[in-house]
Amino acid sequence: MPNSQINPLLIQILLNQETSNMSDCPTTNLLPGKYVKTILQNKKSLNPIIEENNQMLICKSCGRKGKYDVGMLVVNVDKEKNPDNISDTIQMTGYFRCKHCNDAGNWELPTNLLMFTMFSALPLGNSGQKQSTIGKNLLFDGSWHRYTTDAEEYLLNLLKENPQDSYVWNRLGNLYHKGNRPELAVSVFEHSILIDPGQTESHFTLGDMLAQISDLPNAGYHFRQMLLSAEAYKRMPAVKLREILANGLLLLFLMHDHTNGEVPFLPTLDEIKASGRKGAPVNLAEMELEIFPDDVDSFFPIAEMYMGVRAKEIPIREKTFNMMNSSKISLKQKKVKKKKKRK
Ligand SMILES: [Zn+2]
Repeated sequence: MPNSQINPLLIQILLNQETSNMSDCPTTNLLPGKYVKTILQNKKSLNPIIEENNQMLICKSCGRKGKYDVGMLVVNVDKEKNPDNISDTIQMTGYFRCKHCNDAGNWELPTNLLMFTMFSALPLGNSGQKQSTIGKNLLFDGSWHRYTTDAEEYLLNLLKENPQDSYVWNRLGNLYHKGNRPELAVSVFEHSILIDPGQTESHFTLGDMLAQISDLPNAGYHFRQMLLSAEAYKRMPAVKLREILANGLLLLFLMHDHTNGEVPFLPTLDEIKASGRKGAPVNLAEMELEIFPDDVDSFFPIAEMYMGVRAKEIPIREKTFNMMNSSKISLKQKKVKKKKKRK
């Protein structure tokens, strides 16, 4: 029977368990998190970040063949490296382990796959869908890893030393998400929020995934937590932070509209109190704001409001919201600049 393709070390660190009582082939039942089951059940409703790309590979550890979703093939043409073997330069974004022995990263790649990859990565070979590209996928610290399972092992070793690092947990979640393993991703994102409720990026991605499977109340909750945690979140450049907030706001707006207001568009008074942030809920009716559900930029002023002091880092020319007093959001602040030009 095929196994669940989960790294035992992941379960061990997530559950804070000893290695001795750990199975070599853990199942998805062991993954902690309240969204794991519904995400697994609704996997087909989720848009993969990278299209499925099933290939037949041979596991060199057990000698058995299997079909795996390898994702995007990324060819590193760094000349200095001068590899002995061409296959050592190819990264794959898919997350997969041997279906039979659960080993990872010990693959024999068929020659036709290597030929196809090299050819389609060339600029001339780019007709039709693109399943390979030239470049490098690097982790947040600049390190290069061949298989996603190698990158995972690297991050898990960092987490073994420092299990409270919610940022590294978030990066790990991104690997699984991109690797087309949403059940692993949500479990890890949920864990990152459990140890640090201010992990803004995890709130955003959870909100996005839950919205795709139509779990609107929970999606809304995470998007609003994203807004409330944004001001204190330091791990993302301000312009990029504003972009994810605006995307979350746009989805919040659509969900609010779709549910006839059942899903609150902005954080409620209770949510604000629980977050420890100062200020009252934002009353949009008192602000001269124009928002358009088909234009994510129109949500920038609200995004900047929630960014508080972090909005000051946005280059002045790109700012959309002027705050007299950035330490709190005031209802009386009507002087919101209208956008000067629209796209
Ligand atoms: Zn194997």
